[in-house]
Amino acid sequence: MNLEQEIAKRRTFGIISHPDAGKTTLTEKLLLFGGAIQKAGAVKSSKIKDHARSDWMEIEKQRGISVATSVMGFNYRDVKINLLDTPGHKDFAEDTYRTLTAVDSVIMVIDCVKGVEMQTEKLMEVCRMRNTPVICFINKLDREGRDPFDLIDEIEEKLDIKVRPLSWPISMGKTFKGVYSLYEKSLHLFTPSKITIEEGLEVDINDPQLDERVGENNAKQLRADVELIEGVYPDFNIQDYLDGKVAPVFFGSAVNNFGVKELLDTFIRIAPPPVERETTVRVVEPEEKKFTGFIFKIHANMDPQHRNRIAFLRICSGKFERGSNYYHVRQEKNLRFSNATAFMAQDRETVEEAFPGDIIGIYDTGNLKIGDTITEGEKVMYTGIPSFSPEIFKEVINLDAMKTKQLEKGLLQLMEEGVAQLFTYELGKRKVVGVVGALQFEVIQFRLKNEYNATAEFQSQSIYKACWISSDDPKKLNEFIDSKQRHIARDKDGKLVFMAESRAWLQMVQDNFPEIQFHFTSEFK
Ligand code: GDP
Repeated sequence: MNLEQEIAKRRTFGIISHPDAGKTTLTEKLLLFGGAIQKAGAVKSSKIKDHARSDWMEIEKQRGISVATSVMGFNYRDVKINLLDTPGHKDFAEDTYRTLTAVDSVIMVIDCVKGVEMQTEKLMEVCRMRNTPVICFINKLDREGRDPFDLIDEIEEKLDIKVRPLSWPISMGKTFKGVYSLYEKSLHLFTPSKITIEEGLEVDINDPQLDERVGENNAKQLRADVELIEGVYPDFNIQDYLDGKVAPVFFGSAVNNFGVKELLDTFIRIAPPPVERETTVRVVEPEEKKFTGFIFKIHANMDPQHRNRIAFLRICSGKFERGSNYYHVRQEKNLRFSNATAFMAQDRETVEEAFPGDIIGIYDTGNLKIGDTITEGEKVMYTGIPSFSPEIFKEVINLDAMKTKQLEKGLLQLMEEGVAQLFTYELGKRKVVGVVGALQFEVIQFRLKNEYNATAEFQSQSIYKACWISSDDPKKLNEFIDSKQRHIARDKDGKLVFMAESRAWLQMVQDNFPEIQFHFTSEFK
C-alpha cells in the first residue's frame, strides 16, 4: 500500500463528553465492533470520581489506566481507526484540550436526560478553535429523556453549532421503539438487550409496515417529526460538517449497543482522514514524503526507579520508520527512535512503521516536551498546541531546603508532562503553579514526594488569570513591564505573562494600556 492509501484509510478521533454521559461505554462498543476486544467490561473507565480526591491509590490507578487506554487503535472494515482517550474529569481538562489538538474529528456524547452539560460546552470551545468536525451522539434513549427537538435546540444554542439529525428516535424510555435513519431511510428496531446488534429494515416512512412495527401512534408521530425536520433543516452537507459548521446528530443507547453500529458506519464514511496542518513556516500536507509529527502528551512511567517517560507523538506527514534518525527541532539535534510503540486497543507493541494519523509512543528520558516537533531535518514547528490560562494559582513553598535540587527537577519534569503550568516571577523569582482543577495540586504534591523525594507546600494566591502579553510597540511593552513589575512572570518557555489579580483590575489595566495585547492562551499571532 502506498502512502496516499495509508492516509486515506485512517481516522483519528476523540470522544468527548461530560462525565457519565457514556463515553467509556461507547468506546467499548466501538472496540467490540472493531474486534479489538471480545467482551463487554474490558474497557476501564479512566475517570477519577469526585470521591477519589485525596485518594492516592485511586490517582495512581487512574494514571495506570490512562496509559493503557490513552490511544486505542483498531481496524473496522478497511479503515484503521485511532481513538484517543480524553479524561472526563474537569480537573484534567488541560490534558483533554491538548489531546484534541492531535485528532482530526470528534464524537460528542450527550446524555438525553441531562442535555448539554458544562464540560461539553468547554470542550466544544476547544474544538471550535480548530474547526474540528463533530458528530453528536445522543445517548441513553432507553431512559425517559428530554424531548429530542429540545435537545437539538439546546445543542445549537449552547454549543453554538448548527445540527442536522441523521437519525430520529421513536418514543423513549420504557416505550423506546428504535430509531429511523434519515440518511438510509431505514428503521432500526430496539430490543433491550446487552448484545443487540440491530438490523436495519428498509422501510419508507409512508409504508404501512412502519405502523405494524412501531404502533400507529408512534408511526404518526415519527412521520410528523420527520416532516418537520426535513422542512426545517437543510439537507446534510458533508463539506459543512468537515468545516466544523454542522454537526450531524445520531440517537441511541450505548449500553444496549443500539445505534452504535450506525454511528460507526457513518463515521468511517464521512469523518476526515488526516489533513494538512499548520506550522510556523508553512502548511504541511500528510502526503509529503518526509516524516513530521508533534508531541501532544507525555506520561511518566509508573516506576519511580526509572525516570523514563512515554511521549505521545502524532504523525502528520510521511512515514515513520523505527530506528531512523529524526530531527528534534527545538533542541536542534538528531534523535534515534529505536523503541517506539504502537497502540493497538489495549496492547502495546513495537512499531516498525507508522503513517499520518497514527500515534506512536516514544520512550524518553527528558528530551521531549509537549508541543515539540520532530522532522527529517526541516526547521518547522507545529502550531495550535497552546497552553490555556489556568484557573487556580498557588505559590510553591519548599519545605526541605536540603532537597531544593530535587524539587526543581521534579517541578520541571511534571510541568513538561503538562500536569500543570509554572510561572516564575521576574521579581524575586517566586514560583507559582497554575492548574485547572484543585485535584492537580494533590497529584503534584504526591508525585514530588513519591518520585523526587521533595517536600513542598502550596500557598493560595489571589490571581484571576495569567495573560500572555504582547505589543507591536516594544517601547510600550517595556513601559508596561516597568510599571507592573510585581505582576510580571515568565511561563515555561520564557514568554512574558501578566498575572492579573481580578477581573475588574484586568479590565482597568486593559483600558489603561490599549497598546498592550492580553491573550488567554500562549499562542497568538
Ligand atoms: P463516562 O463517564 O462518560 O465514561 O460514562 P460511562 O460510559 O462510564 O457511563 C456512565 C453510566 O451510564 C454507566 O453506569 C453506564 O452503564 C451508563 N450508561 C451508558 N450508556 C447508557 C445507556 O445507553 N443507557 C443507560 N440507561 N445507561 C447508560
